[in-house]
Amino acid sequence: MGKTLVWVQVPPPAPVTVTDALASFEQYRLTLPQLLDDLWSRIEATESRVHAFVSLADPNELLDAGNNLASLPLRGIPLAVKDNICTTQLHTTCGSRMLESYQSPFEATCVNRLRAAGAQVQGKTNLDEFAMGSSTEHSAWGPTRNPFDCTRSPGGSSGGSAAAVAAGEALAALGSDSGGSVRQPASVCGVVGLRPTYGLISRWGLVAFASSLDTIGLITSSVPDCARLLEFIAGEDPRDSTTVNADIPPYSRTLRCDLAGLRIGVPAEYIGDAVGDEALARTAHWQKLARGLGAQIVELNIPALHNALPAYHLLASAEAAANLARYDGVRYTPRSAAQDMLTSIITSRASRLGREVKRRIALGTLVLSAGQAEQYYDKAQHARAWVTDGLRRAFHSVDLLLTPTSPTPAFPLGARDTDPVAMYQSDLFTAPASLAGVPAISIPGGSVDGLPFGLQLIAPRLEEELLLGAAHAMELAVRGDL
Ligand code: GLN
Repeated sequence: MGKTLVWVQVPPPAPVTVTDALASFEQYRLTLPQLLDDLWSRIEATESRVHAFVSLADPNELLDAGNNLASLPLRGIPLAVKDNICTTQLHTTCGSRMLESYQSPFEATCVNRLRAAGAQVQGKTNLDEFAMGSSTEHSAWGPTRNPFDCTRSPGGSSGGSAAAVAAGEALAALGSDSGGSVRQPASVCGVVGLRPTYGLISRWGLVAFASSLDTIGLITSSVPDCARLLEFIAGEDPRDSTTVNADIPPYSRTLRCDLAGLRIGVPAEYIGDAVGDEALARTAHWQKLARGLGAQIVELNIPALHNALPAYHLLASAEAAANLARYDGVRYTPRSAAQDMLTSIITSRASRLGREVKRRIALGTLVLSAGQAEQYYDKAQHARAWVTDGLRRAFHSVDLLLTPTSPTPAFPLGARDTDPVAMYQSDLFTAPASLAGVPAISIPGGSVDGLPFGLQLIAPRLEEELLLGAAHAMELAVRGDL
């Protein structure tokens, strides 16, 4: 194990997981009022420094509603929801002035399914505007801070969700991951973050950023929690035609404590080129742990991976430019006072969208424009196919891939704010699975520079059972529990 993690400004939370809370309810050791009380005391103690939430539900209302949920599997437990996922009870702002007072008339399918299982919406979590970013600094409502060190970023764009779970303000949270937005904040906040196979979780009610990449994911404090919640939300949805018609296995009942018989591929060169010595030593340590659990480690060279990051940013920006065209200052938001339509649209977009969003719209529009598309958009599509094929071939010889989740641990707030290229580097290891539509998970991997540093496992399409099973074994080994 590396150094013990030190909580710099916020004390560590009581280690309550969804699984523990439900077991404690069962054994009459915990009641919903006590749980709500614990969570809200924690919120009172930390939220002014962490700023994980954009809006919070009224705990008394959760308490009242919870009385009718006691017989359902999730028994009224509150869960946090990223603020780009539509809920009928609180605003859905996407961290943007464009949606400052937007009230969704419908609820996202994943939220509906969690509600049907007995969960409640605790609050909406902060994010980079429209989920574009890796630091949660690009939120119109101000940055979220990393609970391990409030001078640092919690990652992004689901930084609010990751920080809420890490600080013990929420048991678990929903996030969204297009290029890494669940995994990277989970990594730098020391929690678990799952990006599922593209199409496993319905995106009905997720505000679109880059439609061919967007997924809804889970942020939890343990792999069993992630597996349990996934069982409720995964599966086909007639409202989202990209969802897959697949049987949903009982993920939480097939978790493993070993990696016997598994071949784990490590793209060593790709990792070595991007991370510092301490992170490299950490990666070597994970390989040792995996071998100790019975896995065979296979060093791989997947040249296509080097193209994943630029391809992701070009394609995501192109799709974002198209998706964000709907924000015309007429729908979703109070109209500007301008007399004619065009001035009204220009005024709203100029004043209500933030710098990073504008940068992506400009980049996306450029790479799609006549005369440029062949050079940029088409090439990026080819690179995406190459990355997808590279991963598909790798999975002929290995069962899973292992990398760090992000090249570095949490960086100081402001450190990459003026350097978009440095910010985009955060997605180096997460972009490949996004482009290929395959599932990947970040779990706590110990520390680098005294800060949490996540380990990423990537699996073939729809192999969540394998992925979560192996992640659980690694989670226990990293913690020293095996
Ligand atoms: N950090 C990536 C970006 O800035 C990923 C965002 C996401 O997954 N929503 O685009």
